[in-house]
Amino acid sequence: GHAGRVPNADAGRHPPFDVNAVRRDFPILAERVNGKPLVWFDNAATTQKPQAVIDRLAYFYAHENSNIHRAAHELAARATDAYEAARQKVARFIGAGSVEEIIFVRGATEAINLVAKSWGAKHIGAGDEIIVSNLEHHANIVPWQQLAAEKGAKIRVIPVDDSGQVLLEEYKRLLNEKTKLVAVTQVSNALGTVVPVQEIVDLANRAGARTLVDGAQSVSHMRVNVRALDTDFFVFSGHKIFGPTGIGVVYGKRDVLEDMPPWQGGGNMIQDVTFERTIFHPPPARFEAGTGNIADAVGLGAALDYVDRVGIENIARYEHDLLVYATHAIRDIPGVRLIGTAADKASVLSFVLKGYSTDEVGRALNQEGIAVRTGHHCAQPILRRFGVETTVRPSLAFYNTCEEVDRFATVIRRLAGQRK
Ligand code: PLP
Repeated sequence: GHAGRVPNADAGRHPPFDVNAVRRDFPILAERVNGKPLVWFDNAATTQKPQAVIDRLAYFYAHENSNIHRAAHELAARATDAYEAARQKVARFIGAGSVEEIIFVRGATEAINLVAKSWGAKHIGAGDEIIVSNLEHHANIVPWQQLAAEKGAKIRVIPVDDSGQVLLEEYKRLLNEKTKLVAVTQVSNALGTVVPVQEIVDLANRAGARTLVDGAQSVSHMRVNVRALDTDFFVFSGHKIFGPTGIGVVYGKRDVLEDMPPWQGGGNMIQDVTFERTIFHPPPARFEAGTGNIADAVGLGAALDYVDRVGIENIARYEHDLLVYATHAIRDIPGVRLIGTAADKASVLSFVLKGYSTDEVGRALNQEGIAVRTGHHCAQPILRRFGVETTVRPSLAFYNTCEEVDRFATVIRRLAGQRK
């Protein structure tokens, strides 16, 4: 696989951008934890914010703050312009055809719930089938389960092989005329598997099913182009791509969105209201009831500008080398069991250490200032596929370094050596 094929595990020491300059752009990376410099290896849970994003939020509240769309005054115009400019940045970043295809929501979770409650309520019926993969985050399982229970529909699951990669042949067998939706993650948050979503979407399109790609763990690590992918829906969270919490995105193809009913009612989403009836706005306003998260949408725009300046291809290349380096650093430590060894992976290492609970490993790392997630990562089905309830999960971003990986591996090696 990728991890095995690369001859030089030291390639991560030669980033295609100035990683130290990037690190200086993220003030929190200068924090100390337990007397040690912070190592932030919990990027799959949330990412840190560059000063440019922090400054953009402060600038909005200091100079632009207003509700949007509804007023003749200057600040309403500034806030509306900033919010709509952010929508434009999102559309450009993921290769959408137009800003009308971009809906702001709170995050990937709300994004998937919007699709389930609006598109699903209209188009899913008794006996219909929804396909997901064994790798999904609970956010891409539970809303479909709720919808299926309500409608008498069925969830079908694409299994994975022992490396944690989806079995495309099994997927082809699951696809049939009852399949109405295929909803899959592009990168597994628990194992780091990069899922072949292009093939999955192409096959679904040929079978006449709609598709949703969960990009929560992919957009910050690789180039995404929703038009090339030809998916009906693509969702992600701002906070996992160096933007603020509380803001996320639904991309939907224009004709698909136009055919969907609102999911929440209120201000902003209407054209005209009487007590007898309401005429709704077209998308995206139809799906943005009430006052949205204006400042954080603007902050997300600044985050995407930052990523563009470093270059997502540069980021992908560097992170790939760093993940290879980290994999080599821990996979041969006695007692380490890596979970998720697919040929194509992004950002995530998931493992257990013999003789220790995952909590104990997490606490030992925290003693050295190293932040990793331990637990089930909101993806219990895939961990149980590998016979575990929890793992230790370091997850890398473009501001991490080989030196940080070395500090991390030293702790794991020490624990392994002390094992009772
Ligand atoms: N999907 C995947 C693959 C995720 O990793 C996550 C978050 O961990 C989500 C969805 C949900 O994102 P959020 O909690 O930001 O709504």
